[in-house]
Amino acid sequence: MPHPRAGAVGEQGRLTVADGPAVARLAAHLREATPAMLDDLRLLVEHESPTGDAGRLDALAETTAARWAELGSTVRRHHREGVGTHLEVHWPADPRDGSDARPALLLGHIDTVHAVGTLARNPFRVEAGRAYGPGSQDMKAGIVLALHAVRALGELGVRPARPLVVLLTADEEAGSRDSRPLIEDVAAGCAHALVLEAAGPGASLKTARKGIANYTLTVTGQAAHAGQDFPRGVNANVALARLAVAAHELSDPQSGTTVNVGVVAGGTRPNVVAERARAELDVRFWDDAEARRVERALRGLRVAAGAHLAVDGAVNRPAFRRTPAVGPLVRAARRVAAALGDDLDETSVGGGSDGNLTAALGLPTLDGLGAVGAGLHTADEYVEVASLPDRAALLAGLLASL
Ligand SMILES: [Zn+2]
Repeated sequence: MPHPRAGAVGEQGRLTVADGPAVARLAAHLREATPAMLDDLRLLVEHESPTGDAGRLDALAETTAARWAELGSTVRRHHREGVGTHLEVHWPADPRDGSDARPALLLGHIDTVHAVGTLARNPFRVEAGRAYGPGSQDMKAGIVLALHAVRALGELGVRPARPLVVLLTADEEAGSRDSRPLIEDVAAGCAHALVLEAAGPGASLKTARKGIANYTLTVTGQAAHAGQDFPRGVNANVALARLAVAAHELSDPQSGTTVNVGVVAGGTRPNVVAERARAELDVRFWDDAEARRVERALRGLRVAAGAHLAVDGAVNRPAFRRTPAVGPLVRAARRVAAALGDDLDETSVGGGSDGNLTAALGLPTLDGLGAVGAGLHTADEYVEVASLPDRAALLAGLLASL
């Protein structure tokens, strides 16, 4: 894609973070593009794309790939049977002379938590300055911001500081089991990661996230007739109840570690001593050492004689710690935001994202660069329309300056 030199933007068209007027120009350009951004948001939201629905995720990947191709990008499709298609987009930007060749990684996902049919009850619509619809904030608007940030750079002839790789995966909401090796492979060659997940409270950036581990405890006891043979039975439900309490008590408020016994199921009928019972746990932690402590304790749990316990599971997302290497990214984002008249805070959150994976590789990772809104994962999910151009300008400013 040709990049006309834009002398007003600075040397070689490069935007510097101190270049307030250039940021303002990007923002003004993007404000004019707000209707086009809403058209794109509608296009993506109206493609329902629950995790695991490979056919719908393939279709949305094609729609999304076409939009990137229009910007002169090359798109690699990583099709996975039963999962969908992960998109790897390379924007053949013309980075400023002398930049190191490692690309910036823009990281997002095309899947949502919303089942097919949600759209019929909760159609895409704009009301009172809010754009509603399933997956609007998490994270179809994030994809729209990335598209329009890149488009604005091209249209204004602002050269990015680095080449750009955009990775949009199809299984983030289920823990990125399939896409993780791809994310790690692509991230390994990049300079830093900018994650398109929803903005934090007050439009803040996310620079730390808890890690997540998931476990299943399965107890097998001995079935027996509750009337005739009660003493012969070994009740799996009772054993599991004790385990559930023990697991819950592995939580440590001091270090922020939580063990949530989210699902408990067991037995078949009231008049049968329960033979099988199962609990599903969600563990969250700020420190990977805490995850190891909890896992050791879970694997050390014992049940009464005659019963058997199986513990399955592992860490799914390591803790995303705020490291000093993130400082330059935060400062750059603050300066771009200041040029837009915004104060930008950073925050840490309990929810995980693919940012956990890039941060765990040691890649400086700035998360929460997506849309401002609320209600993610609910039927009231929306994005603030007025925030779209400013968030896209923030992204564009970062791509131009980092
Ligand atoms: Zn998300």
